[in-house]
This record gives sequence, structure tokens and C-alpha cells, in this order.
Amino acid sequence: MIIVLRINEFLLRLGCIPYIFLNFALDNEFCPPMKKYNFNAGPSMLPREVVEKTAQAVLDYDGMGLSLMELSHRSAEFKPILDEARLLLKELLDVPAGYEVLFLGGGASMHFCMVPFNFLRSKAAYLNTGTWSTKAIKEARLFGEVVEVASSADKAFSYIPKDFEVPADADYLHVTSNNTIYGTQMRHDPDSPVPLVADMSSDILSRPVDVSKYNCIYGGAQKNLAQSGLSFAIVKESALGRAGRAIPSILDYGVHIANGSMFNTPPTLPIYTALCNLRWVREQGGVVEMARRAEERAAVVYDEIERNSLFMATAVEEDRSYMNIDFVMAPGYEELEAPFVSFASERGVVAIKGHRSVGGFRASCYNAMPLEGAKVLAACMREFEKNVKK
Ligand code: PMP
Repeated sequence: MIIVLRINEFLLRLGCIPYIFLNFALDNEFCPPMKKYNFNAGPSMLPREVVEKTAQAVLDYDGMGLSLMELSHRSAEFKPILDEARLLLKELLDVPAGYEVLFLGGGASMHFCMVPFNFLRSKAAYLNTGTWSTKAIKEARLFGEVVEVASSADKAFSYIPKDFEVPADADYLHVTSNNTIYGTQMRHDPDSPVPLVADMSSDILSRPVDVSKYNCIYGGAQKNLAQSGLSFAIVKESALGRAGRAIPSILDYGVHIANGSMFNTPPTLPIYTALCNLRWVREQGGVVEMARRAEERAAVVYDEIERNSLFMATAVEEDRSYMNIDFVMAPGYEELEAPFVSFASERGVVAIKGHRSVGGFRASCYNAMPLEGAKVLAACMREFEKNVKK
């Protein structure tokens, strides 16, 4: 290495062209950049090939000499992208007939308002499992009676309430299937006497879902589907048109269905990323394989949290999320929180700081996170413990 640097210095003095090549070699071969494992909660990690395909499409879509960003959403090139993305989401989640898939702007927060606008006639039931459920409840209250059937706020949203009654006359029961901030998850579709509506922003495509139990499944795309700027909804068509109120067109699921997600200009580039990602999920073995990987990855991290005397999980075991793994320093070690974030970051484990409202750590492990990432994080935790305890 030192010899190469000396030769390089010499060539630079001579003003030689090979200097450039040597520099390139130094950057790429002798000093490869550290591999990064991205544990961001969202926008978050996407499969590398999905990022590369998107980057290529930004520069030149399909050899057209035009960027995908420069193409009309009504062009002959974009239409097949939207059609295939819609079909693939249906195929991967085994969506029954009578449901339509939408790709819209606005984020999951827009659906907090669209859901009651479209489905709440007089009364809706909501399960409160965290910040996002609380926000959804706040919006629904603008439209009618909201029954909060249960809440886990009493224990800092560290569990999913199980024993609660749903009023039989509620128009729907709203749940947040994965609580991105508190790291809890309903890993199975709950039973309910009334149709379900779910915010699946942070666990869509991570497991099979019985869509027939739901009137609507929605979410932001920026975790398991694409980059931010896009939201999705899977809507049961026969459940629409019963809310008994006028709905502004832009917030009307029926209008978006009638226009095939083209009532207004949809986020075209994120829809292309979503398509590449949906193809990737299918190639990898679909949502059954995604669920297997999620469980395997999460076990590596949770097992280390259990074993390691410095760390503690925050969620009760049975409700721990496979997507967002929340943990804190064990009592007595609190001052080591910031040092561990730096320690991990120096080893390529980035963005494990917990949400600003809860602190601690959060390792988000969405579909794109390889098992290796979970192992590297667990190894960091072991090494940190060794250093502290020596
Ligand atoms: N619901 C859940 C479960 C989320 O994790 C988030 C964002 N992290 C939201 C809703 C809000 O999403 P958006 O920012 O797309 O409105």
C-alpha cells in the first residue's frame, strides 16, 4: 500500500495520466468502502437491484433516450408499468376478485382521512396500538362516532391488546398491523365481527395476508414497497358508496378506482420502483419467503438482545415486530446509548437510533435487509458487551 502511494506521488509530480488510474484503484480496490447495513425505519433500505434499476430509468428509460421522470403518466411506456405493478401486488397478496389496487400520492396519513370519509357511516371501531393508530383515530373522529376498543397506551404501547369487544354495529375495525415506532406487530390477521381496515405501512409484503377479511388495506410505500411519495390501497369495491356523504373527488376511493389511479398525476417514478420491487419479491419466492426471512432475521437480533446483559427489548415477546426491533440499554447502562450508536455506525450498522419519541434503539429489518445485516448487528452488540465488561 505504502509503495503504491509512493509511486502515485511520483507520477503526480511528473503530471502522469496513470495517476488517475492509480487513484481509482486505491479508492476501489485497496480501500473498498465499508459495507453499510441500513436499519432506517422509513424511507428505508430497498434491494440494491431495485435502486439500480430506478437509477437507470431516471437516466434513460428502456433505451428511449428519455428519463422516466420526463414521460407522461398517460404515455404508452408508463401505462404497462402501472398495470403490471397493480397486477403483481394482487398476485403476491392473492387479492380476491372484487378488490382494486390503487397507487396514489399523499402517504399513509392521507388514508387516515380517506378511510372514514369513504367507509364510516355512523360508527367505527379503532384499536389503539401506538402513534399511528392515535393519529388515525383523531382523523376518524371528524366523521362520526369512534369507539376505541382497546389501547396499549397504559404500558407505553409495548403490547397488542387481545381481549376487547368490537361493537357489532361498527362499520369497520381499524388496526395498525405493525407499529413502526413501538416495535409491535399483529403477525396474523385478527378475527373481527365487522370488516377490517388496516394500516400496513410497515409490514406490507412481509407475510401472507387474508385480504378477504378487510374492506381496505393501505399504507405509505416507503418501507417495503418503494421510496417515499407513493401510497397504496387495496379496496373492496362493494364496501364503497355506503358512507352517505359527499366525498371530494381526490379523496374518493371510488373515483380513483374508476380512473385506474389516474384521476390525477400519480407519482410515476415511485410506481416504477414499486414495480421493480414487486418483481424482486416474486423472484425471491413471494411473501411466504419474505415471512420466513423476516422471522429468521428477527430471531438473530432478538436472541442477542436476550443473551446480552447490556440490552433489553421493549415489546412483550409474543407481540414483537419482525420489521422494527426496538431495544434499550439495560438499567445501569443508560449512558452507553450514544456510544453504542457510534460503535455500531463505525462497523457499518447505520440508523439504529430509536424514534425521537421513545429513544433507545430501533433496528428496522424490512424485506431488503439481508440475514447478514442482522448477524453484523448482533456481532456488534456482542463485541460492545465484551469491551464494556473487560
Ligand atoms: N402508519 C405507519 C404504520 C407508519 O409507520 C407511518 C410512517 N412511518 C405512517 C402511517 C405515516 O406515513 P406517511 O408519512 O406516509 O403519511
